[in-house]
Amino acid sequence: MTATDAAPRTFESLDPRTGDVVGTHPVHDAAAVQAAVDKAAVAADWWRGLGFDGRLPRLAAWRSLLANRIDDLAGVIVTETGKPLDDARLELVLAVDHLDWAARNAKRVLGRRSVRAGLLGANQAASVSYPPLGVVGVIGPWNYPVFTPMGSIAYALAAGNTVVFKPSELTPGVGRALADTLAEAVPDAPLLQVVTGYGETGAALCRARGVGKIAFTGSTATGKRVMAACAENLVPVLIECGGKDAMIVDSDADLAAAADAAVWGGMSNAGQTCVGVERVYVLGTVADAFAAEVTKRALALRAGESFGPMTMPAQADVVARHVADALAAGGTALVGGPDPVHDGLVDPVVIADVPEDSVAVTEETFGPVLVVNRVQDVDDAVRRANATGYGLGASVFSGARGEEIAGRLRCGMVAVNGVISFAGIPALPFGGVGDSGFGRIHGDDGLREFTRPQAVARQRFALPVPLTSFRRPASAMKGLVRMTRLRMGR
Ligand code: NDP
Repeated sequence: MTATDAAPRTFESLDPRTGDVVGTHPVHDAAAVQAAVDKAAVAADWWRGLGFDGRLPRLAAWRSLLANRIDDLAGVIVTETGKPLDDARLELVLAVDHLDWAARNAKRVLGRRSVRAGLLGANQAASVSYPPLGVVGVIGPWNYPVFTPMGSIAYALAAGNTVVFKPSELTPGVGRALADTLAEAVPDAPLLQVVTGYGETGAALCRARGVGKIAFTGSTATGKRVMAACAENLVPVLIECGGKDAMIVDSDADLAAAADAAVWGGMSNAGQTCVGVERVYVLGTVADAFAAEVTKRALALRAGESFGPMTMPAQADVVARHVADALAAGGTALVGGPDPVHDGLVDPVVIADVPEDSVAVTEETFGPVLVVNRVQDVDDAVRRANATGYGLGASVFSGARGEEIAGRLRCGMVAVNGVISFAGIPALPFGGVGDSGFGRIHGDDGLREFTRPQAVARQRFALPVPLTSFRRPASAMKGLVRMTRLRMGR
Protein backbone atom coordinates (compact mmCIF):
# COMPACT_ATOMS: atom_id res chain seq x y z
CA MET A 1 0.00 0.00 0.00
CA THR A 2 1.40 3.43 -0.89
CA ALA A 3 1.15 6.48 1.33
CA THR A 4 -1.61 7.92 -0.86
CA ASP A 5 -3.70 4.73 -0.53
CA ALA A 6 -3.50 4.82 3.26
CA ALA A 7 -6.64 5.76 5.17
CA PRO A 8 -6.47 9.25 6.65
CA ARG A 9 -5.02 9.09 10.13
CA THR A 10 -6.97 12.02 11.48
CA PHE A 11 -10.25 13.79 10.84
CA GLU A 12 -11.66 17.17 11.79
CA SER A 13 -14.76 18.09 13.72
CA LEU A 14 -16.53 21.27 12.67
CA ASP A 15 -18.71 23.93 14.25
CA PRO A 16 -21.94 23.52 12.23
CA ARG A 17 -22.78 27.20 12.77
CA THR A 18 -19.64 28.44 11.02
CA GLY A 19 -17.94 25.48 9.38
CA ASP A 20 -14.82 26.26 11.44
CA VAL A 21 -12.58 23.38 12.43
CA VAL A 22 -12.85 22.92 16.21
CA GLY A 23 -10.80 19.75 16.67
CA THR A 24 -8.63 17.12 15.04
CA HIS A 25 -9.00 13.50 16.12
CA PRO A 26 -7.38 10.19 15.23
CA VAL A 27 -9.12 7.68 12.99
CA HIS A 28 -8.79 4.55 15.07
CA ASP A 29 -8.45 1.40 12.99
CA ALA A 30 -9.33 -2.15 14.00
CA ALA A 31 -5.96 -2.71 15.70
CA ALA A 32 -6.30 0.45 17.78
CA VAL A 33 -9.85 -0.49 18.76
CA GLN A 34 -8.72 -3.97 19.77
CA ALA A 35 -5.91 -2.47 21.87
CA ALA A 36 -8.46 -0.28 23.68
CA VAL A 37 -10.72 -3.26 24.34
CA ASP A 38 -7.76 -5.29 25.65
CA LYS A 39 -6.85 -2.48 28.07
CA ALA A 40 -10.48 -2.16 29.10
CA ALA A 41 -10.62 -5.89 29.86
CA VAL A 42 -7.71 -5.56 32.31
CA ALA A 43 -9.32 -2.52 33.92
CA ALA A 44 -12.62 -4.42 34.14
CA ASP A 45 -11.11 -6.99 36.50
CA TRP A 46 -10.02 -4.24 38.90
CA TRP A 47 -13.31 -2.35 38.60
CA ARG A 48 -15.41 -5.44 39.18
CA GLY A 49 -13.24 -6.41 42.16
CA LEU A 50 -14.06 -3.11 43.89
CA GLY A 51 -17.67 -4.21 44.30
CA PHE A 52 -20.61 -1.83 44.56
CA ASP A 53 -19.26 -0.11 47.67
CA GLY A 54 -15.86 0.54 46.08
CA ARG A 55 -17.30 1.84 42.84
CA LEU A 56 -19.88 4.17 44.38
CA PRO A 57 -17.47 6.83 45.75
CA ARG A 58 -15.44 6.80 42.54
CA LEU A 59 -18.52 7.33 40.38
CA ALA A 60 -19.62 10.02 42.81
CA ALA A 61 -16.27 11.77 42.29
CA TRP A 62 -16.87 11.75 38.53
CA ARG A 63 -20.43 13.03 39.06
CA SER A 64 -19.12 15.93 41.16
CA LEU A 65 -16.51 16.81 38.57
CA LEU A 66 -19.09 16.78 35.77
CA ALA A 67 -21.50 18.88 37.84
CA ASN A 68 -18.79 21.45 38.53
CA ARG A 69 -17.74 21.56 34.88
CA ILE A 70 -21.20 21.84 33.34
CA ASP A 71 -20.43 25.13 31.66
CA ASP A 72 -17.08 23.94 30.19
CA LEU A 73 -18.60 20.75 28.85
CA ALA A 74 -21.67 22.56 27.56
CA GLY A 75 -19.28 24.76 25.58
CA VAL A 76 -17.81 21.69 23.87
CA ILE A 77 -21.31 20.41 23.03
CA VAL A 78 -22.26 23.81 21.59
CA THR A 79 -19.22 24.03 19.32
CA GLU A 80 -19.75 20.54 17.87
CA THR A 81 -23.58 20.51 17.59
CA GLY A 82 -24.47 24.19 17.25
CA LYS A 83 -27.26 23.90 19.84
CA PRO A 84 -27.99 26.79 22.23
CA LEU A 85 -25.88 26.83 25.41
CA ASP A 86 -28.83 26.30 27.74
CA ASP A 87 -29.93 23.22 25.80
CA ALA A 88 -26.42 21.80 26.21
CA ARG A 89 -26.55 22.62 29.94
CA LEU A 90 -29.90 20.81 30.28
CA GLU A 91 -28.44 17.74 28.59
CA LEU A 92 -25.59 17.71 31.12
CA VAL A 93 -27.86 18.25 34.11
CA LEU A 94 -29.90 15.21 33.08
CA ALA A 95 -26.79 13.10 32.45
CA VAL A 96 -25.34 13.94 35.87
CA ASP A 97 -28.64 13.01 37.51
CA HIS A 98 -28.66 9.64 35.73
CA LEU A 99 -25.06 8.94 36.71
CA ASP A 100 -25.90 9.65 40.34
CA TRP A 101 -28.96 7.40 40.25
CA ALA A 102 -27.18 4.52 38.52
CA ALA A 103 -24.29 4.60 40.99
CA ARG A 104 -26.54 4.79 44.04
CA ASN A 105 -28.99 2.10 42.92
CA ALA A 106 -26.63 -0.49 41.43
CA LYS A 107 -26.27 -2.46 44.67
CA ARG A 108 -30.01 -2.57 45.33
CA VAL A 109 -30.81 -3.75 41.82
CA LEU A 110 -27.84 -6.00 41.06
CA GLY A 111 -26.74 -7.30 44.43
CA ARG A 112 -27.31 -10.96 45.18
CA ARG A 113 -30.91 -11.63 46.23
CA SER A 114 -32.59 -14.75 47.50
CA VAL A 115 -35.56 -16.23 45.68
CA ARG A 116 -38.02 -18.90 46.81
CA ALA A 117 -36.77 -22.38 45.97
CA GLY A 118 -40.24 -23.90 45.63
CA LEU A 119 -41.50 -27.32 46.69
CA LEU A 120 -39.19 -29.38 44.48
CA GLY A 121 -36.21 -27.33 45.66
CA ALA A 122 -37.20 -27.37 49.33
CA ASN A 123 -33.71 -28.51 50.31
CA GLN A 124 -32.02 -25.68 48.33
CA ALA A 125 -31.18 -22.05 49.00
CA ALA A 126 -31.74 -20.18 45.71
CA SER A 127 -30.23 -16.82 44.82
CA VAL A 128 -29.62 -14.59 41.78
CA SER A 129 -26.81 -12.13 41.19
CA TYR A 130 -26.03 -9.88 38.27
CA PRO A 131 -22.32 -9.89 37.50
CA PRO A 132 -21.02 -7.42 34.89
CA LEU A 133 -20.27 -8.39 31.30
CA GLY A 134 -16.68 -7.09 31.33
CA VAL A 135 -16.18 -4.61 28.49
CA VAL A 136 -19.17 -2.80 27.01
CA GLY A 137 -18.82 -1.07 23.64
CA VAL A 138 -20.97 2.06 23.34
CA ILE A 139 -21.68 3.63 19.93
CA GLY A 140 -23.39 7.00 20.14
CA PRO A 141 -25.10 9.63 17.98
CA TRP A 142 -24.44 13.37 17.69
CA ASN A 143 -27.81 14.89 18.59
CA TYR A 144 -27.45 14.53 22.39
CA PRO A 145 -23.77 13.62 22.50
CA VAL A 146 -23.63 13.46 26.33
CA PHE A 147 -27.11 12.55 27.49
CA THR A 148 -27.68 9.70 25.05
CA PRO A 149 -24.44 7.72 25.40
CA MET A 150 -24.38 8.35 29.16
CA GLY A 151 -27.59 6.32 29.36
CA SER A 152 -25.38 3.37 28.48
CA ILE A 153 -22.00 4.49 29.86
CA ALA A 154 -23.17 5.45 33.36
CA TYR A 155 -25.32 2.35 33.81
CA ALA A 156 -22.66 0.01 32.37
CA LEU A 157 -20.00 1.45 34.70
CA ALA A 158 -22.28 1.32 37.73
CA ALA A 159 -22.96 -2.34 36.95
CA GLY A 160 -19.22 -3.00 37.11
CA ASN A 161 -18.17 -2.92 33.44
CA THR A 162 -15.56 -0.79 31.72
CA VAL A 163 -16.49 1.00 28.50
CA VAL A 164 -14.99 1.69 25.10
CA PHE A 165 -16.99 4.50 23.53
CA LYS A 166 -17.18 5.40 19.85
CA PRO A 167 -18.82 8.84 19.58
CA SER A 168 -20.33 10.12 16.33
CA GLU A 169 -17.77 11.50 13.90
CA LEU A 170 -19.59 14.85 14.34
CA THR A 171 -19.02 14.99 18.11
CA PRO A 172 -15.68 13.33 18.90
CA GLY A 173 -14.56 16.20 21.13
CA VAL A 174 -17.53 15.68 23.43
CA GLY A 175 -16.66 12.00 23.77
CA ARG A 176 -13.05 12.86 24.49
CA ALA A 177 -14.10 15.37 27.17
CA LEU A 178 -16.27 12.76 28.89
CA ALA A 179 -13.43 10.24 29.03
CA ASP A 180 -10.95 12.89 30.23
CA THR A 181 -13.16 13.88 33.15
CA LEU A 182 -13.56 10.28 34.30
CA ALA A 183 -9.80 9.71 34.00
CA GLU A 184 -9.28 12.81 36.14
CA ALA A 185 -11.75 11.67 38.79
CA VAL A 186 -10.63 8.02 38.78
CA PRO A 187 -7.04 7.89 37.49
CA ASP A 188 -6.39 4.31 38.66
CA ALA A 189 -7.49 2.52 35.48
CA PRO A 190 -8.96 3.34 32.03
CA LEU A 191 -12.63 2.89 32.86
CA LEU A 192 -13.85 4.81 29.83
CA GLN A 193 -11.80 4.96 26.65
CA VAL A 194 -12.81 6.78 23.50
CA VAL A 195 -12.10 5.53 19.99
CA THR A 196 -12.79 8.02 17.22
CA GLY A 197 -13.32 7.81 13.50
CA TYR A 198 -16.05 6.97 11.04
CA GLY A 199 -18.47 4.06 10.74
CA GLU A 200 -15.60 1.58 10.24
CA THR A 201 -14.31 2.38 13.73
CA GLY A 202 -17.74 1.53 15.15
CA ALA A 203 -17.84 -1.66 13.07
CA ALA A 204 -14.39 -2.61 14.42
CA LEU A 205 -15.71 -2.16 17.96
CA CYS A 206 -18.58 -4.57 17.17
CA ARG A 207 -16.05 -7.16 15.98
CA ALA A 208 -13.36 -6.66 18.63
CA ARG A 209 -12.52 -9.76 20.69
CA GLY A 210 -13.59 -9.49 24.30
CA VAL A 211 -16.53 -7.09 23.94
CA GLY A 212 -19.34 -8.36 26.17
CA LYS A 213 -22.11 -6.25 24.67
CA ILE A 214 -22.61 -3.39 22.20
CA ALA A 215 -24.95 -0.57 23.21
CA PHE A 216 -25.84 1.27 20.02
CA THR A 217 -27.80 4.49 19.63
CA GLY A 218 -28.38 5.88 16.17
CA SER A 219 -30.43 5.33 13.04
CA THR A 220 -32.37 2.13 12.34
CA ALA A 221 -30.33 1.45 9.18
CA THR A 222 -27.03 1.57 11.08
CA GLY A 223 -28.57 -0.41 13.95
CA LYS A 224 -29.20 -3.30 11.55
CA ARG A 225 -25.55 -3.17 10.38
CA VAL A 226 -24.36 -3.15 13.99
CA MET A 227 -26.52 -6.15 14.81
CA ALA A 228 -25.24 -8.05 11.77
CA ALA A 229 -21.62 -7.37 12.75
CA CYS A 230 -22.29 -8.47 16.34
CA ALA A 231 -24.01 -11.63 15.14
CA GLU A 232 -20.67 -12.88 13.76
CA ASN A 233 -19.44 -13.50 17.31
CA LEU A 234 -22.83 -13.78 19.02
CA VAL A 235 -22.19 -10.52 20.87
CA PRO A 236 -25.44 -9.27 22.43
CA VAL A 237 -26.70 -5.85 21.44
CA LEU A 238 -28.85 -3.07 22.84
CA ILE A 239 -30.35 -1.10 19.98
CA GLU A 240 -31.75 2.43 20.51
CA CYS A 241 -32.88 3.81 17.18
CA GLY A 242 -34.99 6.62 15.82
CA GLY A 243 -38.67 7.32 16.23
CA LYS A 244 -41.69 9.03 14.75
CA ASP A 245 -43.25 9.99 18.03
CA ALA A 246 -46.88 11.02 18.12
CA MET A 247 -48.76 13.32 20.48
CA ILE A 248 -52.46 12.76 21.05
CA VAL A 249 -54.55 15.76 22.10
CA ASP A 250 -57.88 14.76 23.62
CA SER A 251 -61.03 16.92 23.55
CA ASP A 252 -60.71 17.76 27.27
CA ALA A 253 -56.96 18.59 27.13
CA ASP A 254 -55.39 21.85 28.29
CA LEU A 255 -54.83 23.14 24.76
CA ALA A 256 -52.35 25.86 25.67
CA ALA A 257 -50.16 23.38 27.57
CA ALA A 258 -50.47 20.82 24.78
CA ALA A 259 -49.48 23.38 22.14
CA ASP A 260 -46.53 24.53 24.21
CA ALA A 261 -45.36 20.93 24.60
CA ALA A 262 -45.89 20.12 20.91
CA VAL A 263 -43.85 23.10 19.76
CA TRP A 264 -41.03 22.49 22.23
CA GLY A 265 -41.07 18.73 21.69
CA GLY A 266 -41.07 19.16 17.93
CA MET A 267 -38.71 22.07 17.46
CA SER A 268 -36.19 22.26 20.30
CA ASN A 269 -32.76 21.09 19.18
CA ALA A 270 -34.05 21.89 15.65
CA GLY A 271 -36.20 18.77 15.88
CA GLN A 272 -33.11 16.55 16.09
CA THR A 273 -34.45 14.57 19.03
CA CYS A 274 -35.11 10.83 18.89
CA VAL A 275 -38.12 11.27 21.19
CA GLY A 276 -39.15 14.60 19.66
CA VAL A 277 -42.77 15.16 18.65
CA GLU A 278 -43.13 14.66 14.89
CA ARG A 279 -46.89 14.06 14.55
CA VAL A 280 -49.86 15.43 16.47
CA TYR A 281 -53.30 13.82 16.39
CA VAL A 282 -55.89 16.20 17.74
CA LEU A 283 -59.57 15.49 18.22
CA GLY A 284 -61.72 17.30 15.67
CA THR A 285 -63.74 19.28 18.21
CA VAL A 286 -60.64 21.11 19.45
CA ALA A 287 -58.48 20.92 16.30
CA ASP A 288 -58.93 24.54 15.18
CA ALA A 289 -58.31 25.98 18.64
CA PHE A 290 -55.23 23.78 19.08
CA ALA A 291 -53.85 24.70 15.64
CA ALA A 292 -54.22 28.39 16.52
CA GLU A 293 -52.25 27.88 19.76
CA VAL A 294 -49.50 25.96 17.94
CA THR A 295 -49.29 28.51 15.14
CA LYS A 296 -48.94 31.41 17.57
CA ARG A 297 -46.06 29.72 19.39
CA ALA A 298 -44.23 28.41 16.32
CA LEU A 299 -44.36 31.83 14.64
CA ALA A 300 -42.48 33.28 17.63
CA LEU A 301 -39.48 30.96 17.10
CA ARG A 302 -36.36 31.95 15.17
CA ALA A 303 -34.04 29.39 13.60
CA GLY A 304 -30.52 30.20 14.78
CA GLU A 305 -31.78 31.70 18.06
CA SER A 306 -34.50 29.43 19.49
CA PHE A 307 -32.61 26.43 18.17
CA GLY A 308 -29.42 25.82 16.23
CA PRO A 309 -28.63 24.60 12.73
CA MET A 310 -28.85 21.09 11.37
CA THR A 311 -25.84 19.45 13.00
CA MET A 312 -25.52 17.09 10.05
CA PRO A 313 -25.92 19.31 6.97
CA ALA A 314 -27.32 16.50 4.77
CA GLN A 315 -30.31 16.20 7.14
CA ALA A 316 -31.65 19.51 5.76
CA ASP A 317 -32.31 17.76 2.43
CA VAL A 318 -34.37 15.08 4.20
CA VAL A 319 -36.40 17.76 5.99
CA ALA A 320 -37.01 19.68 2.74
CA ARG A 321 -38.11 16.47 0.99
CA HIS A 322 -40.60 15.64 3.77
CA VAL A 323 -42.07 19.16 3.76
CA ALA A 324 -42.39 19.15 -0.03
CA ASP A 325 -44.07 15.75 0.03
CA ALA A 326 -46.53 16.78 2.76
CA LEU A 327 -47.54 19.91 0.84
CA ALA A 328 -47.74 18.13 -2.52
CA ALA A 329 -49.98 15.51 -0.90
CA GLY A 330 -52.47 18.19 0.12
CA GLY A 331 -51.24 19.33 3.55
CA THR A 332 -51.88 22.94 4.57
CA ALA A 333 -48.89 24.99 5.75
CA LEU A 334 -49.86 26.78 8.97
CA VAL A 335 -46.32 28.00 9.63
CA GLY A 336 -43.42 28.13 7.18
CA GLY A 337 -43.49 27.28 3.53
CA PRO A 338 -42.19 24.87 0.96
CA ASP A 339 -38.64 26.20 1.21
CA PRO A 340 -37.65 26.26 4.90
CA VAL A 341 -33.90 25.59 4.51
CA HIS A 342 -31.37 28.43 4.34
CA ASP A 343 -27.72 28.73 5.41
CA GLY A 344 -27.73 25.42 7.29
CA LEU A 345 -30.80 26.49 9.27
CA VAL A 346 -34.35 25.22 8.95
CA ASP A 347 -37.24 27.54 9.79
CA PRO A 348 -40.13 26.16 11.85
CA VAL A 349 -42.77 24.38 9.79
CA VAL A 350 -46.26 23.33 10.89
CA ILE A 351 -48.42 21.48 8.37
CA ALA A 352 -52.02 20.44 8.96
CA ASP A 353 -54.04 17.60 7.48
CA VAL A 354 -51.21 15.62 5.91
CA PRO A 355 -52.22 12.24 4.38
CA GLU A 356 -51.03 9.38 6.55
CA ASP A 357 -49.00 7.82 3.73
CA SER A 358 -46.84 10.93 3.20
CA VAL A 359 -43.17 10.44 4.18
CA ALA A 360 -43.66 13.36 6.59
CA VAL A 361 -45.90 10.99 8.57
CA THR A 362 -44.22 7.65 8.01
CA GLU A 363 -40.46 8.44 8.21
CA GLU A 364 -38.32 10.19 10.83
CA THR A 365 -37.97 13.83 9.70
CA PHE A 366 -35.48 15.00 12.37
CA GLY A 367 -36.14 18.68 11.71
CA PRO A 368 -38.27 21.48 13.23
CA VAL A 369 -41.42 20.23 11.50
CA LEU A 370 -44.77 19.37 13.06
CA VAL A 371 -47.57 17.53 11.29
CA VAL A 372 -50.92 18.30 12.94
CA ASN A 373 -53.74 16.01 11.81
CA ARG A 374 -57.31 16.08 13.06
CA VAL A 375 -58.89 12.76 14.07
CA GLN A 376 -62.47 11.63 14.73
CA ASP A 377 -61.99 10.19 18.18
CA VAL A 378 -59.42 8.64 20.52
CA ASP A 379 -59.65 5.25 18.75
CA ASP A 380 -58.73 6.93 15.46
CA ALA A 381 -55.83 8.76 17.16
CA VAL A 382 -54.46 5.57 18.72
CA ARG A 383 -54.75 3.65 15.45
CA ARG A 384 -52.81 6.32 13.55
CA ALA A 385 -50.23 6.79 16.29
CA ASN A 386 -49.51 3.05 16.20
CA ALA A 387 -49.40 2.83 12.41
CA THR A 388 -45.68 3.44 11.77
CA GLY A 389 -42.97 0.81 12.14
CA TYR A 390 -41.33 2.91 14.85
CA GLY A 391 -42.32 2.77 18.51
CA LEU A 392 -40.04 4.89 20.66
CA GLY A 393 -41.94 7.50 22.74
CA ALA A 394 -45.27 9.33 22.67
CA SER A 395 -47.21 11.95 24.56
CA VAL A 396 -50.85 12.30 25.48
CA PHE A 397 -52.70 15.42 26.59
CA SER A 398 -56.01 14.53 28.18
CA GLY A 399 -58.02 15.65 31.17
CA ALA A 400 -59.48 12.31 32.19
CA ARG A 401 -58.04 9.53 30.04
CA GLY A 402 -54.28 10.14 29.88
CA GLU A 403 -53.03 6.89 31.34
CA GLU A 404 -55.73 4.83 29.65
CA ILE A 405 -54.71 6.18 26.22
CA ALA A 406 -51.02 5.71 27.11
CA GLY A 407 -51.67 2.03 27.76
CA ARG A 408 -52.95 1.56 24.20
CA LEU A 409 -49.85 2.97 22.51
CA ARG A 410 -47.27 0.64 20.98
CA CYS A 411 -44.10 2.32 22.21
CA GLY A 412 -41.56 2.26 25.01
CA MET A 413 -42.33 5.51 26.84
CA VAL A 414 -45.31 7.87 27.16
CA ALA A 415 -45.47 11.35 28.70
CA VAL A 416 -48.97 12.22 29.94
CA ASN A 417 -49.74 15.96 30.02
CA GLY A 418 -46.07 16.61 29.31
CA VAL A 419 -43.44 15.90 26.71
CA ILE A 420 -40.20 13.86 26.94
CA SER A 421 -40.66 13.96 30.74
CA PHE A 422 -39.84 10.23 31.04
CA ALA A 423 -36.23 10.87 29.90
CA GLY A 424 -35.52 12.96 32.98
CA ILE A 425 -36.70 10.34 35.48
CA PRO A 426 -33.77 7.98 36.10
CA ALA A 427 -35.96 5.22 37.57
CA LEU A 428 -37.89 4.86 34.28
CA PRO A 429 -36.56 2.53 31.59
CA PHE A 430 -35.90 4.11 28.20
CA GLY A 431 -36.08 2.33 24.84
CA GLY A 432 -38.32 1.38 21.98
CA VAL A 433 -40.06 -1.36 20.06
CA GLY A 434 -40.13 -2.27 16.36
CA ASP A 435 -37.88 -0.11 14.17
CA SER A 436 -36.96 1.93 17.27
CA GLY A 437 -34.96 -1.01 18.62
CA PHE A 438 -34.96 -3.11 21.76
CA GLY A 439 -33.34 -3.30 25.16
CA ARG A 440 -33.48 -0.58 27.79
CA ILE A 441 -31.22 2.08 29.23
CA HIS A 442 -32.07 3.90 32.50
CA GLY A 443 -33.75 2.52 35.59
CA ASP A 444 -33.47 -0.95 37.10
CA ASP A 445 -33.84 -2.50 33.63
CA GLY A 446 -31.04 -0.29 32.33
CA LEU A 447 -28.68 -1.55 35.02
CA ARG A 448 -29.58 -5.20 34.39
CA GLU A 449 -29.02 -4.66 30.66
CA PHE A 450 -25.27 -4.54 31.32
CA THR A 451 -25.10 -7.73 33.36
CA ARG A 452 -25.79 -11.42 32.97
CA PRO A 453 -28.05 -12.95 35.57
CA GLN A 454 -26.33 -15.78 37.40
CA ALA A 455 -28.46 -18.32 39.24
CA VAL A 456 -27.09 -20.25 42.22
CA ALA A 457 -28.87 -23.16 43.93
CA ARG A 458 -27.05 -24.19 47.12
CA GLN A 459 -28.05 -27.50 48.68
CA ARG A 460 -28.86 -27.00 52.36
CA PHE A 461 -29.40 -30.67 53.17
CA ALA A 462 -29.57 -33.93 51.19
CA LEU A 463 -33.02 -35.32 50.35
CA PRO A 464 -33.73 -38.65 52.03
CA VAL A 465 -34.58 -40.05 48.59
CA PRO A 466 -32.21 -38.77 45.86
CA LEU A 467 -34.04 -37.78 42.66
CA THR A 468 -31.06 -36.79 40.52
CA SER A 469 -28.86 -39.80 41.11
CA PHE A 470 -28.46 -43.26 39.64
CA ARG A 471 -29.28 -44.42 43.18
CA ARG A 472 -32.87 -43.22 42.71
CA PRO A 473 -35.36 -46.00 43.48
CA ALA A 474 -38.22 -46.51 41.00
CA SER A 475 -40.75 -45.96 43.78
CA ALA A 476 -39.45 -42.39 44.23
CA MET A 477 -40.51 -41.39 40.71
CA LYS A 478 -43.91 -43.02 41.15
CA GLY A 479 -44.45 -41.00 44.32
CA LEU A 480 -43.30 -37.80 42.64
CA VAL A 481 -45.60 -38.27 39.65
CA ARG A 482 -48.53 -38.97 41.97
CA MET A 483 -47.80 -35.84 43.94
CA THR A 484 -47.51 -33.76 40.73
CA ARG A 485 -50.87 -35.03 39.50
CA LEU A 486 -52.43 -34.11 42.81
CA ARG A 487 -50.94 -30.60 42.79
CA MET A 488 -50.99 -29.70 39.10
CA GLY A 489 -53.49 -31.99 37.44
CA ARG A 490 -56.65 -30.41 38.83
P1 NDP B 1 -26.06 6.96 12.76
O1 NDP B 1 -26.81 5.69 12.70
O2 NDP B 1 -25.63 7.58 11.48
O3 NDP B 1 -24.73 6.80 13.63
C1 NDP B 1 -24.76 6.36 14.96
C2 NDP B 1 -23.38 5.90 15.36
O4 NDP B 1 -23.06 4.69 14.66
C3 NDP B 1 -22.27 6.89 15.02
O5 NDP B 1 -21.30 6.88 16.03
C4 NDP B 1 -21.73 6.31 13.73
O6 NDP B 1 -20.42 6.71 13.46
C5 NDP B 1 -21.78 4.84 14.03
N1 NDP B 1 -21.72 3.98 12.85
C6 NDP B 1 -21.96 4.29 11.56
N2 NDP B 1 -21.82 3.19 10.78
C7 NDP B 1 -21.49 2.16 11.60
C8 NDP B 1 -21.22 0.77 11.40
N3 NDP B 1 -21.28 0.20 10.19
N4 NDP B 1 -20.92 0.01 12.46
C9 NDP B 1 -20.87 0.55 13.71
N5 NDP B 1 -21.11 1.86 13.96
C10 NDP B 1 -21.42 2.66 12.92
O7 NDP B 1 -26.97 7.93 13.62
P2 NDP B 1 -26.77 9.48 13.88
O8 NDP B 1 -25.45 9.74 14.53
O9 NDP B 1 -27.12 10.19 12.62
O10 NDP B 1 -27.89 9.76 15.00
C11 NDP B 1 -29.19 10.10 14.68
C12 NDP B 1 -30.13 8.94 14.88
O11 NDP B 1 -30.02 8.47 16.21
C13 NDP B 1 -31.57 9.30 14.68
O12 NDP B 1 -32.24 8.30 13.96
C14 NDP B 1 -32.10 9.37 16.10
O13 NDP B 1 -33.49 9.19 16.20
C15 NDP B 1 -31.32 8.28 16.74
N6 NDP B 1 -31.30 8.45 18.20
C16 NDP B 1 -31.93 7.53 18.99
C17 NDP B 1 -31.96 7.69 20.35
C18 NDP B 1 -32.60 6.66 21.23
O14 NDP B 1 -32.33 6.66 22.42
N7 NDP B 1 -33.45 5.77 20.75
C19 NDP B 1 -31.35 8.85 21.01
C20 NDP B 1 -30.68 9.73 20.11
C21 NDP B 1 -30.68 9.52 18.75
P3 NDP B 1 -20.18 7.97 12.47
O15 NDP B 1 -20.91 9.13 13.06
O16 NDP B 1 -18.73 8.14 12.55
O17 NDP B 1 -20.71 7.56 11.13
